Amino acid sequence: MTTLTNLLDLDPAQLTAFCGELGEKPFRAKQLQRWIHQFGANDFAQMTDLAKSLREKLEKHAIVKAPTVISDHTSTDGTRKWLLDVGQGNAVETVFIPEENRGTLCVSTQAGCAVNCRFCSTGKQGFNRNLSVGEIIGQLWMAEFALRQTKGIEPGPKGERQITNVVMMGMGEPLLNFEPTVTAMRLMLDDNAYGLSRRRVTLSTSGVVPMIDKLAQECPVAMAVSLHAPNDALRDSLVPLNKKYPLAELMAACRRYLDYAPRDFITFEYCMLDGVNDTDEHARELLALVRNPLHPVPCKFNLIPFNPFPESGLVRSNNARIKAFAQVLMDAGIVTTIRKTRGDDIDAACGQLAGEVQDRTRVQERMQKMAEYQKKYGKDFGRIVEVST
Ligand code: SF4
Repeated sequence: MTTLTNLLDLDPAQLTAFCGELGEKPFRAKQLQRWIHQFGANDFAQMTDLAKSLREKLEKHAIVKAPTVISDHTSTDGTRKWLLDVGQGNAVETVFIPEENRGTLCVSTQAGCAVNCRFCSTGKQGFNRNLSVGEIIGQLWMAEFALRQTKGIEPGPKGERQITNVVMMGMGEPLLNFEPTVTAMRLMLDDNAYGLSRRRVTLSTSGVVPMIDKLAQECPVAMAVSLHAPNDALRDSLVPLNKKYPLAELMAACRRYLDYAPRDFITFEYCMLDGVNDTDEHARELLALVRNPLHPVPCKFNLIPFNPFPESGLVRSNNARIKAFAQVLMDAGIVTTIRKTRGDDIDAACGQLAGEVQDRTRVQERMQKMAEYQKKYGKDFGRIVEVST
C-alpha cells in the first residue's frame, strides 16, 4: 500500500520538491498551492487548469486533509468554535473571533500543554502531542473556507477574506513545537497561500527564551508574551517555565527580538488574578521591569480578566481593580487594553480552550459543568466581561 502525502503538511519548497518527484515543473507547485490554500480545494478533479495526467498522479500519491471537525458552535456574539479530532482520543480547538474591521483566528499548536500555568485549564490536562504542519495550517484552511461557505462567499482571491489575523494562542506552547509552527506560519505569509502580513500573525509564548531568538531569525512575526507577574518569585508560581528562563533573560530576549522586527512592540498578556498579581504596586513593578535601562522593551499590555475554574484556586480581579491597574500603566504612557471575554456561551473563552477534551462526550460534560459553576458562583461566572477604559 502506498502512503498518500498530505499536501497540507508541505511548505512551498517541499511542494515544489514533491511535484519534482512526480516529474512536474516548479510552477505546477505554485498552481497547486493556490488551489489548496486560496480556493480551499481538496479534490484534484476540481483543479481544472492542471493537466489530466498530473491530476491522476496526484489522486494516486496525495491527499489534502485537515483534522476532522467534531463539533462546530457559533456563539451569540458571533464567535465560532470548532473542536477538531487529532486522533487517539485527542482534540484541539480553533476559535474565530469576528470584530468590526477584522476576523481573528486563534490556532492551537499542541494537543495539551506541558508548561502547566496555574491559571490555565489546558495546562491541567498535561501534554499529549505536538501537532503536525497539516494539523496547524489545516485549522486556518478549514476555518477560512467554512466561514466563506456559511456566508456564501466564493473561494479564491476575489472572494472577501474572512480571516485577516491569526494568533497562535490556542492550546499549547508554540515554541515547544517549533518547526511545524514556523512552517505553518510561513504558509500563512506566503502570497500563493494566505498572504497575511507579518504583523497580522501573532505568536504567543510563555517565554521559551532560546526559541524566541530562533524565531527572530527565521520568521519574526508579531510577538505576544504571557507575562502574568512582575517578579520572579510570583512568576515562578504562576508560569513554571520561569524557573528555567527567569524574567531578566526573558526581557533581554524580547529586546533582542525587536531588533529583527523593527517598528514592532511586544504585547504582554497579563491575566488578572484577585489578590495575587493585581495591586497598584504590581503595576509599578511591571513598569520598572519593562523600562529597565539594561533591556527596555517597547510594549503594550493586554489585561485578561481571569476565567475561573475551581481547581485553580484562583479568582478573577474585580472590574474596578482591573481598571485601576490599567490606569497605572496608562498614566506611565503604556498602551493598555482589557480583553473582553468572548464566546463564553460556547465555552470558547480564553484559558477555557479545550480544557479536558479527551473524547467527544467531554464537550457536553464541560458545558454542563459550566452551567453548574454558574449556579454555584453566580451568573457572571465565565461570562463576557465588558470593561471600558
Ligand atoms: S497558558 Fe499557554 S503555555 Fe501556559 S499551560 Fe496554558 S496553553 Fe500552556
